[in-house]
Amino acid sequence: MIDTERPDAGVEWRGLTRGELAATLVEHGVPGGHAQRLFGHLHRRQAPIETFGAMSLRQRSRLADVERPTVCTLVERHAAGASDETEKLVFRLRDGRRVEGVIIPEGPRSTFCVSSQVGCAMACVFCATARLGLERALTVSEIIAQIYTARARCEAVGRPLRNVVFMGMGEPLHHYDVTRRALEILTDPAGISLGFPRITVSTVGLAPRIAQLGADFGGRIQLAVSVNAGRQATRARIMPIGTTYDLDALRAAIAAYPLPRNRYVLLEYVLLAGLTDTPDELAALAAWVRDLPAIVNLIPFNPFADAPETLQSPADADVSRAFATLRAAGVPVSVRQPRGRRAVAACGQLARLRPE
Ligand code: SF4
Repeated sequence: MIDTERPDAGVEWRGLTRGELAATLVEHGVPGGHAQRLFGHLHRRQAPIETFGAMSLRQRSRLADVERPTVCTLVERHAAGASDETEKLVFRLRDGRRVEGVIIPEGPRSTFCVSSQVGCAMACVFCATARLGLERALTVSEIIAQIYTARARCEAVGRPLRNVVFMGMGEPLHHYDVTRRALEILTDPAGISLGFPRITVSTVGLAPRIAQLGADFGGRIQLAVSVNAGRQATRARIMPIGTTYDLDALRAAIAAYPLPRNRYVLLEYVLLAGLTDTPDELAALAAWVRDLPAIVNLIPFNPFADAPETLQSPADADVSRAFATLRAAGVPVSVRQPRGRRAVAACGQLARLRPE
């Protein structure tokens, strides 16, 4: 299966699901029965196709000839330092563009926050990535490559990768098919077999795609939704997508997500001083959340260079007040600690880099 959307078409072997791999082998005159073991060779062993001993030399070289090697090179690492062990990874892609991911140690394990696009089209006003606009979607294998690099790094520092969160640059449900295929590869038992509950996909609220994700993976992928306001007018003001999918449509999509029992949707809520942390906004949020199987995660706004002056971080006391208000209203709620600020790796700050 050659990607004809790209001028330098070729096959990125690690970007194929197992089914696609079998079909692509057949296209190139190789029995599709090799797909299962070859998939393990490429993903579990992370070995090149040329060393797959179960195929003849001729077959291997035929496949290697059509390969387009994935370029997703780790070019920088930025440690947050001090007591914050968060580390930002910067990757350079084939076209010189860069994307960023973040390793977040949590006890003896790590979580990796992966990017799905270069930039983002969603234009949320509180987000640094939005400033880039959408430059392009990543390929499936560019997403996979970030995760495998982070996984190796986590192993090297003795804190193995446990969770992957699609919360880096980009809206992962925008180019849904790319994300769907990456999820299929990551969870494939013949590959690295990441458990479904260990993967979180965070969306700005593309309601029809939430339904699609739920249908394709039976609700097993952890869903996070960027809500950020309790009132429709406020949300539309800070998130343009809110005019396309309003809070009613979003609520219906979340309520219909086929969650397994005892699981929750994570609702991300950026606290902007005087805008989303007001009593009225929080009361509206509490009413909106009622009866949803959801936990609200409050995220104090992280200022970034060029952020609109009207956007301010809340004072610590206001964060505590917002937390107490929601809790008193019966809303399950937590506060995300702003980790990674020194590495410019905190939520909404992955946007520093442009193509060389
Ligand atoms: S918050 Fe997420 S969806 Fe919104 S602009 Fe930033 S990266 Fe895109």
